[in-house]
Amino acid sequence: MTTVIANATIVTGNAGRDVLHDAAIAIAEDRIAAIGPTDDVRPAHPDAEVVDGRGKAVFPGLINCHTHLLATGDRGILEDFGFPTRLTFPVSARGLLTDEERRILALLGVLESIRSGVTCLLEISSNVAGYAPDLAATGLRLVLSENINDVDEAQVREGVFRFDEARADAGLQRSADLVDAWHGRENGRVSCFLAPHAPETCSPDLLRRAREMAERLGVRYTIHLSQSREEIEAVMRVRGVPPTHYLFASGFLGPGLLAAHCRYVNPAEIALLGQTGVKVTNNAAIAARRGAAAPVRELQAAGCVIGMGTDNMAEDMVEVMRAGLFLERVRRNDEVWPQPEDVLDWATAGGARALGMQDITGSLEVGKKADLFVADLMRPHLVPSLRPVSAFVHNGQPGDITSVMVDGAWVMRDGKVLTIDEEDVVRRAEAVGHASWRRLLDRYPNVPFPINIPPPIS
Ligand SMILES: [Zn+2]
Repeated sequence: MTTVIANATIVTGNAGRDVLHDAAIAIAEDRIAAIGPTDDVRPAHPDAEVVDGRGKAVFPGLINCHTHLLATGDRGILEDFGFPTRLTFPVSARGLLTDEERRILALLGVLESIRSGVTCLLEISSNVAGYAPDLAATGLRLVLSENINDVDEAQVREGVFRFDEARADAGLQRSADLVDAWHGRENGRVSCFLAPHAPETCSPDLLRRAREMAERLGVRYTIHLSQSREEIEAVMRVRGVPPTHYLFASGFLGPGLLAAHCRYVNPAEIALLGQTGVKVTNNAAIAARRGAAAPVRELQAAGCVIGMGTDNMAEDMVEVMRAGLFLERVRRNDEVWPQPEDVLDWATAGGARALGMQDITGSLEVGKKADLFVADLMRPHLVPSLRPVSAFVHNGQPGDITSVMVDGAWVMRDGKVLTIDEEDVVRRAEAVGHASWRRLLDRYPNVPFPINIPPPIS
């Protein structure tokens, strides 16, 4: 089966950042077979299904290097009360979800992902195996990781950090089971990372064992790093050094590590991350909501590969790109850097390198997997199409995206998501979100809560 998208603008995302006009892309099975002038590509594939790309742009699929899909159930609330949250419940609403509710929220997150042009995401969650089959069935390229730690969570609230070897053993076992069940499955579309949670919640022993396990299993690994000032204070108090130095001393830094956030890293930490070949996820939209900004230019100059991610409460990578551009220009009081092409690179080729997938995805080049989205350029906020990447990064919306292809298969076509019953999932997710927060408020009626939750829309 061959498909040719013809007469389109093609944003290749290759090393030369080439944008081709009146061009075509041919997809044979799961891979890109040709890219070039429509007059060359179309006759070379006479039996192909031809998709009219007039007025459309084909972009490399966006890669979300850090997300927690179940946090979609917390949207509207947890954006606005700090991190760690100033809501003082002993457990989270997310922690009270049933398996079926987790499944619904995960699919809600994937729906938003597909609609915002995402073709690949790294999901980090506890017991991710419970909804992994549902995620795999959506057709997205997936990196699944089990969130683990070995701290006594009840005592952390009192500022006491005690670590439990049995908890480390159990988390590593769940991680190994996940890798065994899913790594390389679905024609290689699903793979796995290990995911120790954060410097303050993982002992040196767990960090060392996780890196050894990752190398033994042939997978990469990720961690939250320099996410909050509370983390830095805790690590300084318990370990005597900043979080990056603690990870270094625990043998955790290396080219297989993808560090999420890196918001408050000092120059010595930045140098250490660069020297050890660590990759970094810039989660710009959630960072901005937390009043923070990662020093992206400095991290990149130090040698870190930069990817982008949504993290919590939203899966919209179009917004993340724009937030990344705004945040970095504001942080540095810089009128011209980053350019939209730099930001698109972080969200595509950079993300692919961050996940170790640069040979198969992250750009539109012959031989790579066909992971792409099609955007309608003939919109009031996108014409004139003088510089399509700039127009889309500055002004594009998920609603401009008409079709999404992953691994050569359409997951959305002409505005309809093909792999998920969208209406059903949205309706059920509305009920799940309300029910889970009600459950939390009913269980802890004396904890102050600054919001009046309305009844669900049914
Ligand atoms: Zn996170």
